[in-house]
Amino acid sequence: MTAASEGLSRYQMYVDGHWRDSASGETFASVDPYRAERWAEIPTATAQDVDDAVRAARRAAGPWRRMFGKDRGRLMRQLARLVDQHAESLAVIETRDNGKLLREMRGQVRSIPDYLDYWSGWADKVFGQVVPLDKPGIFHYTLREPLGAVAVITPWNSPLLLLMWSLAPALATGNTIVVKPSEHASASTLEFARLVDEVGFPAGVFNVVTGPGSPTSEALVSHPGLSKIAFTGGGPTGRKVLRSASETLVPVMLELGGKSPNIVFEDADLDNASKGVFAGIFAASGQACSAGSRLLVQESIADELLARLTEGTKRIKLGDPSDPATEMGPVCFPEHLARIQGYVDGAIQEGAHVAAGGKRPAAEDLTTGYFFEPTILTGVSNDMTIAREEVFGPVLAVITFRDEADAIRIANDSDFGLAAGVWTKDVGRAHRLTQELESGIVWVNTYRAASYAAPWGGYKQSGVGRELGPESIQEFTQLKSVWINTSGEIDDPFVVR
Ligand code: NAD
Repeated sequence: MTAASEGLSRYQMYVDGHWRDSASGETFASVDPYRAERWAEIPTATAQDVDDAVRAARRAAGPWRRMFGKDRGRLMRQLARLVDQHAESLAVIETRDNGKLLREMRGQVRSIPDYLDYWSGWADKVFGQVVPLDKPGIFHYTLREPLGAVAVITPWNSPLLLLMWSLAPALATGNTIVVKPSEHASASTLEFARLVDEVGFPAGVFNVVTGPGSPTSEALVSHPGLSKIAFTGGGPTGRKVLRSASETLVPVMLELGGKSPNIVFEDADLDNASKGVFAGIFAASGQACSAGSRLLVQESIADELLARLTEGTKRIKLGDPSDPATEMGPVCFPEHLARIQGYVDGAIQEGAHVAAGGKRPAAEDLTTGYFFEPTILTGVSNDMTIAREEVFGPVLAVITFRDEADAIRIANDSDFGLAAGVWTKDVGRAHRLTQELESGIVWVNTYRAASYAAPWGGYKQSGVGRELGPESIQEFTQLKSVWINTSGEIDDPFVVR
């Protein structure tokens, strides 16, 4: 059956400024998780398609890096305005692909122009330094230069926003891009490519190849023509990317998952803390890398907080993610749903109790889509699988602690270190915790805040490198050390100068 006869939207890839099908003609379907139906047909890029895209990005890299920064910045600002105009349709597509709330995807897409604007401002402000040396007759300076062709691999939970986290700094600093979006949510990136094309970016500066891990991503991450891989996804895939890049020695930036502790002390404002715990785990149906999936609550307030949370979960409205009244949509795909159920069942076998949820909802309108109830598990100890592995779903593991030292010990007893939340009115305690927590991000009396201007990234197995903020300029540039002999003389050639 053809895409047209099934009524599917049919997409092509964007390579070297042209739209094309896969060299093999193969395609795969994108599935709407709310309706559990195929809605779009996407090309499966072969190794040949990937090679064409990387070669195009390499060809474009020279002229793009030599273009004045202000001109690169101008193109980025034009792109920002176009994204602004098309934000609603992009958000609708993302919701259709990943099932997250339309109002969440709308918020994400509407923030993209800010990322492009901020980084367009950096495009003409990246430069080296003159270095004073103790060597007469030598003038030394550094040049901060782009890397070349950068592969950006994104997950399905926030396709365009996470693309922007790498794309905006990479383009501003003079690199070209081959992006491979998740096979579960490729359409918005292909729609975004239309806007790049409309702005008139030079051919090859931005390319999109689509397809699953094998063959598409594997062909991309093993390509020797890349100068950097910026990967966002799960730890197991991140390890494969690193293994592959160890052959080509292409530098890799990894933004991986977490098992982030959300720590509530007895002196916290419990109204705010309850909202923060909910935001941390039930927003986006728990499908956020920084999900506060371990609630660490002080013993003295555990019953009270738990009563509020279990009562609150009963009021969470599950349903059509496009409906403004809906608070939790489905999870992204059936295998993921089964995986979440597997984690909950495993936790029960290990001794956890279900305080709320724990299964698929029974309501008739929720049986078609891939819904899972907001779930709270109590009686969890930090050595259980549910406290150690990322579920990436709406499942909160509740662990109690005695005092501050106990909280820090439990929080840090994890292979991950992406984010942590601290809820307390004690300023001194807040600062002690921010210093002691082994975590790339610490939120105090808030959760899930992010900005183009502030660094993002994980400690330990949550990642390698930093995105966003001025620090990410270093991720997408390399430093050249230049030595000029101003004396006109050459000293003893057998002695280092
Ligand atoms: P995933 O690891 O399954 O896939 C991520 C991307 O890698 C997809 O595009 C996929 O096609 C690609 N891929 C698959 N096999 C590959 C291979 N062998 N080589 C190279 N690429 C391959 O992750 P997902 O399920 O799409 O996303 C969820 C994960 O992403 C979670 O673990 C979440 O915590 C993480 N995440 C992290 C951040 C962050 O900023 N740290 C943000 C969002 C999501």
